[in-house]
Amino acid sequence: MALTTDTLTIWMNKFADKVNTNKQYLSDLDTPIGDGDHGFNMDRGMTAVKEKLATKPADLTSGFKTIAMALISTVGGASGPLYGTAFLEMAKKSASTNDIGELLDAALAGIEMRGGAKPGDKTMVDVWNTLVPEVKSGNLTEEKIKDAVETTKDMIAKKGRASYLGERSKGHIDPGSQSSGYLFEAMFETEGLL
Ligand code: ADP
Ligand code: MG
Repeated sequence: MALTTDTLTIWMNKFADKVNTNKQYLSDLDTPIGDGDHGFNMDRGMTAVKEKLATKPADLTSGFKTIAMALISTVGGASGPLYGTAFLEMAKKSASTNDIGELLDAALAGIEMRGGAKPGDKTMVDVWNTLVPEVKSGNLTEEKIKDAVETTKDMIAKKGRASYLGERSKGHIDPGSQSSGYLFEAMFETEGLL
């Protein structure tokens, strides 16, 4: 389906609200296998995004750029540059398409290139890699989003802070995968987007 500046804004506002509601939970997930800041980082970033998007972007490309810049300058940690890259890649891609599947493909490729994580490394890549194809085939469901997030629980982290724990990272949901799960839920709930 085609993305517009209106559906992009609705999608981001829903994502911001989910992150805000669950910021403590996201930081609690980051406590045993990280430094406990993921929810607060993401909430700071998405609050800034919501404020920026209160002014309607001229087009999709400038909308994506605004989001990327807000995230890069406010989120920090590993996730700020990674989410920032995802939106920057979508900004670039939006010069030639407004198809959500193609845009998400570009975002995932950017995250993988920037962070060097592969599927199975217990990072946000796991959720994106599982769910982008579901978006493209029109088969995304809430159940699949929950499963993709939950699947990271039994993985051993190979990238990021959690990788310092090795085997002990097992048994905990990856916080960046959970926040990415909210991004896909928000997408799923945005009428006319998928
Ligand atoms: P930090 O680890 O610097 O405190 P955050 O807590 O905000 O940053 O974000 C942690 C999340 O970032 C992890 O749960 C994971 O999903 C994601 N992440 C970390 N490193 C990578 C990487 N190299 N590639 C993809 N995602 C990563
Ligand atoms: Mg952290």
